[in-house]
Amino acid sequence: MKIIDAHCDALLKLMEDPNLSFYKDNDQLQVQFKYMKQANVAIQFFALFISPDTPSQLRFQKALKMIDIFYEQVVKEDRIIPIYTGSEVEQVLGNTQGPLGGVLSLEGADALEGSILHLRTLYRLGVRALGFTWNYRNEAADGVEEPNPGGLSHFGREVLMECNRLGIILDVSHLSEKGFWDVVQLSAAPFIASHSNCQSIHYHQRNLNDDQIKAIYQKNGVLGLTFVPDFVAAKKERNISDFLRHLDHALSLGGENHIAFGSDFDGISSTLTDLGKMADYTNLVNRLLSHYKEEQVEKWLSGNWKRLFLDILG
Ligand SMILES: [Zn+2]
Repeated sequence: MKIIDAHCDALLKLMEDPNLSFYKDNDQLQVQFKYMKQANVAIQFFALFISPDTPSQLRFQKALKMIDIFYEQVVKEDRIIPIYTGSEVEQVLGNTQGPLGGVLSLEGADALEGSILHLRTLYRLGVRALGFTWNYRNEAADGVEEPNPGGLSHFGREVLMECNRLGIILDVSHLSEKGFWDVVQLSAAPFIASHSNCQSIHYHQRNLNDDQIKAIYQKNGVLGLTFVPDFVAAKKERNISDFLRHLDHALSLGGENHIAFGSDFDGISSTLTDLGKMADYTNLVNRLLSHYKEEQVEKWLSGNWKRLFLDILG
């Protein structure tokens, strides 16, 4: 069964270590071509993460640098193609021998430096998903770790409208709860949480409460459950069984057509004990197939993301 995964930080690692290769075996990258093939991951979102210590006038440039790494080091016509529209998604999912796909997603509007022109430029360079914030405040909104966080700023609202117009997937992971409800109210399109779990199972600022999860479903969006151990449970060793409690809960809220996965591989130093790298997705898939109906598992691995792509990217 083919898999779509909505979050990884491989581009950051590739930028930080010029000797790393996406195509040569190494044990630093949790996401690499070999693992994608092994686990049948057909489409991977690649985050453009701009660390908060980047000087403000260099943030856009940093995003450009990571986009360049994506096209120079990850995209290869016969192996990984960039996903711009629903037709590439269908091509990749429908073809057993063809190339896999990569989606560029901006993690935090920091890189826009307050400019809609930068947003449109990034769209033209292939960016198809946008998270408003990382954990802190930027020109568009406040993140979950900002003290007394507010919602979307005027600029954030402009960003939202332009993403709706262009066909960029809006991502609320990391966004403050106020910002979340602004997106619910203002977005004409379904939206996603690319890598967040359920607060009812384990309270963490980065997880979502039940009302938020139900609002994503009502908007016909997608919840990408994530393998970040600290978002899964509070104990020391955490594994797929602990993770599945979040899936069961998300399902109990009516999530069959909205649940999916966003691993956060390469953005995490510790991992679930039995899900340490992309190749280990097979452990998760086997567990899912032993607990749930095949048609449900297929929706969570790729079907729900596919519907969202077709809805938003056209
Ligand atoms: Zn993140």
